[in-house]
Amino acid sequence: MSHYDQLIAHYQTIHHFNHAQAMLGWDAAANMPAGGSEARSNAMAELSVHVHRLSTQPQLEDWFGHAEQAPLTTEQQASLREMKRQWQQATLVPEKLVQAQSIAGSKCEHTWRTQRQENDWKGFEKNWKEVVALSREEAKIRGEALGLTAYDAMLDKFEPGTTTSSLDMLFTDVKTWLPELIEKALEKQRSDSIILPSGTFSTDRQKALGLEVMKLLQFDFNHGRLDQSVHPFCGGVPSDVRITTRYDEKDFVQALMGIVHETGHARYEQGLPKAFSGLPVGEARSMGIHESQSLFFEMQVGRSKSFISHLSRLSMDAFNAHQDPVFAEENLYKIYTQVEKGFIRVDADELTYPAHVILRYEIERDLINGVIEHTDVPDIWDEKMKASLGLSTQDNYKNGCMQDIHWTDGAFGYFPSYTLGAMYAAQYKASMVKSLDLEVAIESGDLSPIFQWLNDNIWSQASLHSTDELVKRATGETLNAAHFRKHLEGRYL
Ligand SMILES: [Zn+2]
Repeated sequence: MSHYDQLIAHYQTIHHFNHAQAMLGWDAAANMPAGGSEARSNAMAELSVHVHRLSTQPQLEDWFGHAEQAPLTTEQQASLREMKRQWQQATLVPEKLVQAQSIAGSKCEHTWRTQRQENDWKGFEKNWKEVVALSREEAKIRGEALGLTAYDAMLDKFEPGTTTSSLDMLFTDVKTWLPELIEKALEKQRSDSIILPSGTFSTDRQKALGLEVMKLLQFDFNHGRLDQSVHPFCGGVPSDVRITTRYDEKDFVQALMGIVHETGHARYEQGLPKAFSGLPVGEARSMGIHESQSLFFEMQVGRSKSFISHLSRLSMDAFNAHQDPVFAEENLYKIYTQVEKGFIRVDADELTYPAHVILRYEIERDLINGVIEHTDVPDIWDEKMKASLGLSTQDNYKNGCMQDIHWTDGAFGYFPSYTLGAMYAAQYKASMVKSLDLEVAIESGDLSPIFQWLNDNIWSQASLHSTDELVKRATGETLNAAHFRKHLEGRYL
């Protein structure tokens, strides 16, 4: 067996354990009774340790060295590159540091849940200090090994190839036009009257509606399913994708669009090439590209007038409410495009969302690079929130810098993915409309041409190319924020 083939077999073995891990995780979130929690955590921790050992076995370095000398096809070279990337990611950080991070992170995250409710910054800060210090240490080690600055090394975990300088350029551009666009949209919507949902929308009917919408979006039910969990997610494996949502019986609006979003993630997974199944090169390109799929489904398709027309009809049927003005097309469209300045990122609308992300990006960049200290964060948050959305978070930590889970366990470098995803999605659409009429396809109820484009350009390409190359091949250029701006102006002005 060649060294390349040995590597292939080894990474497929790792994939089988990751498969089991993903299903255990899904079950813990969607099905497991509370009493199973401790034993499940232990089982999952044991599996993680095992996978880590497999991923860092000493002979791998030798195999990579030999495999690189052998003649390989272009696809095999890409496959080797992605295996090596995962191996480097796994071996760069010493096990002692990984363990310390895991302990500090789970302690900080666990206590954060009550500290946030109690607006207890002082208590939170004591645990978070350690998380920040360990993340800086990790960033330094990664940066030195990869020849990157500290924060760029953290970005590399989620968005390989993306750098601070490219993000600074993109986000500086957004900051020049976004505040004015938000004001104009608010002004335009000021006289709108919206009828908000009232009454009871049973979980059963909401689920039935969600399944209808997933059918419209051509989710493959032979390779996936929909369930419920406290925090919605898309998990599982490409051959068996598990998405979840959370229902509120007083309001169907969020759960319904949440299903559209998760279906976008799911179809990317379901569309990944079978030829590279179980291999790093067959996986999603990055978090930003993953989010570009969910946000393409949610923002470019889901909130378009023609799609909302389907949602109107399907929800009237599901709730047997054909006369209810809440479900009228125009009213649903207003609900799904309403702009509002708020404190909370996860509740933010499409237009104000980037402001939340850019604020977090600027803070975590400076924090990891050592430009600011963790104790500076609340004041800087307040300043930036006032500047971007005109809201003060002075002494309001729970709705300020303590609102997200990401930083509690050291997931620095992740936030930019959300807005990168929204930007990529707008760029795909700008490119797609050159060869097909999106509105006509959505109106007809047969969205196949849209999915064919995504499949040809994104899903089937998995991790064969770098992100820049992938986007350039799909749209003719690398990421260009002008498409995002045009999309937002078209929808909100
Ligand atoms: Zn998502």
